[in-house]
Amino acid sequence: MQSVAQVTSSTDQRSLADSVTSMHLLPNNIALKSMNAERLLTRFLQYVQIDTTANDAVSDYPSSPGQLELGQLVVQQLQEMGASNVSQDRHGIVMATIPAHDRPHAPVVAFNAHFDTSPETSGKQVRPQVIRNFDGQDLSLPGDRTQVITAATCAELPLAKGQTIVTSDGTTLLGGDDKAGVAIIMELANTLLESREILHGPVRLLFTCDEEIGRGVRHVDLERLAADVCYTFDGGGRDTVDHETFSADLATVTIRGVNIHPSIAKGKMCNAVRGLCELVMRLPRDLAPETTDKRQGFLHPYSIEGGVAQSQVRILLRDFDTAKLTEHAAVIHRAAREAEQAVAGIRIDVEIRKQYRNMAEGLAKDPRAVNLAVEAHKRLGREAQLSIVRGGTDGSQLTEKGLPCPNLSSGQHNIHSPLEWASLDEMVAACEVGIAIVQRWGEA
Ligand SMILES: [Zn+2]
Repeated sequence: MQSVAQVTSSTDQRSLADSVTSMHLLPNNIALKSMNAERLLTRFLQYVQIDTTANDAVSDYPSSPGQLELGQLVVQQLQEMGASNVSQDRHGIVMATIPAHDRPHAPVVAFNAHFDTSPETSGKQVRPQVIRNFDGQDLSLPGDRTQVITAATCAELPLAKGQTIVTSDGTTLLGGDDKAGVAIIMELANTLLESREILHGPVRLLFTCDEEIGRGVRHVDLERLAADVCYTFDGGGRDTVDHETFSADLATVTIRGVNIHPSIAKGKMCNAVRGLCELVMRLPRDLAPETTDKRQGFLHPYSIEGGVAQSQVRILLRDFDTAKLTEHAAVIHRAAREAEQAVAGIRIDVEIRKQYRNMAEGLAKDPRAVNLAVEAHKRLGREAQLSIVRGGTDGSQLTEKGLPCPNLSSGQHNIHSPLEWASLDEMVAACEVGIAIVQRWGEA
């Protein structure tokens, strides 16, 4: 099959960009064939059928055996395509190198995706449905007809008319988050290894486990990765560059009371459950995920447990402005003092732990990470949308550890849901972006 390199006639950057751009003007099926979309699709379908659901209830890394199995498959495929230094470490993390082509001294660019899928919806026995030349209409899924992907709840759906899309059968999630990213990186690597025309510096590949439960980069050895910049393929749709994430802290609030049999409790019992309720009622309603959007931060009490003697509530603190986390913490402390006064005899301890920081802070140290990604889109005749994420990614933590790591689109939609779908056309578009990025860094 042809690869992107074979549509280029010259190593001159402008003519390469021109030829890739003009490829988009060709009928869809020809453009897809040039990108070897079928190979990408075949791998994607293989990956989603391996159950890699992350499991928050265990402390093992990875948290589920399917992640090791998918890693082994990826290792085997990387070896078959001729990648170098292919390894899967004892934590299941897979790394590999695509050697430089005529640009040995260029900065080292890494690409990252995660093997696991969200525990929010089952990832067991995924039966992917491939719909070619999609008609853009609402889509009822064959394994459970009550599951309908609609334009009313997913505005991107009609825009995928004419594309090849993939869904689950409606009984599981699909796993495009982030197996779309894995498949994109594999096709990107394969294309670079086959190409004689694409000039680039060394490229490193990094596949992690348990991103969905916040442990993605826990065992990543950045010295071993030895990259100057990294891009995660873990975003929705196409042509977005996520350059900001939330800054995040977690508050664990423990309410201690006094328990005694209710029959003799008068004047003696101090009920921690009441204390917990008093505290939660004092968290401002207009500072919640359900009442905020865009750049607004929030406080989110998301889990409670306990009884009369002791109760606990966990609260997420989120803001794009890291300094504001201190203000949000003060709100919790104030609510705790007031709750102590409202329920005599209880004692409340607030413990706040740092989770991750806004990626923008780290990216500011090397603006090229975002700027060259934007330029790469331009060369493809496309415009990158700079966007902010109301959450975190592996990229926020990698950036914080000192490796600048914006997040790119990978064709995912309706993630973590039985209504999830992915677009092959957008995965191919993401692959093109990756190739344009390594070319651009090759000139840096
Ligand atoms: Zn993801």
